[in-house]
Amino acid sequence: MNDALFLTDKLACDHSLSLEEYALLISLRDAKSQQYIAEKAASVRKTIYKNSVFIRGLIEISNYCKNDCLYCGIRRSNSSCERYRLSEEEILSCCDEGYLLGFRTFVMQGGEDPYFTDAILCGIISKIKNKYPDCAITLSLGERSFESYKRLYDAGASRYLLRHETADECHYAQLHPKEMSFDRRMKCLKDLKQIGYQTGCGFMVSSPHQTNAMLAKDLKFIEEFKPDMCGIGPFIPHRATPFSNMPSGTAELTCYLLSIIRLIHPPILLPATTALGTLDEFGREKGIKAGANVVMPNLSPSCVRAKYELYNNKLYSRSESAQEIEELKKRIRNIGYEVVTDRGDIRLNK
Ligand code: SAH
Repeated sequence: MNDALFLTDKLACDHSLSLEEYALLISLRDAKSQQYIAEKAASVRKTIYKNSVFIRGLIEISNYCKNDCLYCGIRRSNSSCERYRLSEEEILSCCDEGYLLGFRTFVMQGGEDPYFTDAILCGIISKIKNKYPDCAITLSLGERSFESYKRLYDAGASRYLLRHETADECHYAQLHPKEMSFDRRMKCLKDLKQIGYQTGCGFMVSSPHQTNAMLAKDLKFIEEFKPDMCGIGPFIPHRATPFSNMPSGTAELTCYLLSIIRLIHPPILLPATTALGTLDEFGREKGIKAGANVVMPNLSPSCVRAKYELYNNKLYSRSESAQEIEELKKRIRNIGYEVVTDRGDIRLNK
């Protein structure tokens, strides 16, 4: 029997492989194993979420960032990045518009912008919660202290996305400047979980210097940490970063990893990301067919969308745009799934 199919069956049954087996499974990817694992992952996902696809309205609140991640287009040393930050009124009006379009989760994402103190964020979060008590608020604002995460949680945020970026400490140092710490990032994830957030980690596929052994560590980390959500998307270079000449990841490897992650932790909320849709015209559909169950269209005011440029040619129109939700629904219906208006919490069978 083909080893990749054997390992896939083992993973589907045990939700666990050794580091060596994960690396082998990745290296054995071919058209046949890719299809086999995608079908397994889609069927596992269907037993929990039927054919529902959850939507999240993404509001990119600021592209100011005090960090200097080597891969990221909004890193502080990119002087060609035109900076913006949204006001409280602008953020609230994004939510008003999103609510009318059917969104019941708002994701506030941004660079690490010191302007957004706990007091300012708590004010915004409690206003959104007051106005839309039936909605979930997700934050993706980088590393903060335990106390800060706790204040934001107490103000009404219930989910937090913080990609771990890589579970290999040496690789982490190849992607980040010296002042950033792998241990601190991992501690943030543990803090978030301890506070009670639905917590999301994640990584880029084919980020510079990444090997299959490193990806195996990412998968092992997911297996052990059991995040509620996991954001993965292909690395795509940005012209004004040190990695401008590095190759992009592929939609195929990204989808293969989505399937593996679905089998590791069946109830996980797994987005088909914008980066996947940017790389491949049908990336999001491919992601959903491979086991993803979330899409996050952009609700940011259209005048700032182009400025939140994490990588070259980031998509922000057509079905990436919340205003084009009808087109997105149609595309998802075409592959046999249904966009639902629902907070879309994780369904753990406890
Ligand atoms: N400041 C927040 C949000 C970061 S942007 C935080 O630290 O969590 C969200 C994600 O975009 C990052 O976690 C990173 O994995 C991804 N990203 C950044 N640059 C990218 C690139 N060049 N290609 C693909 N994804 C990228």
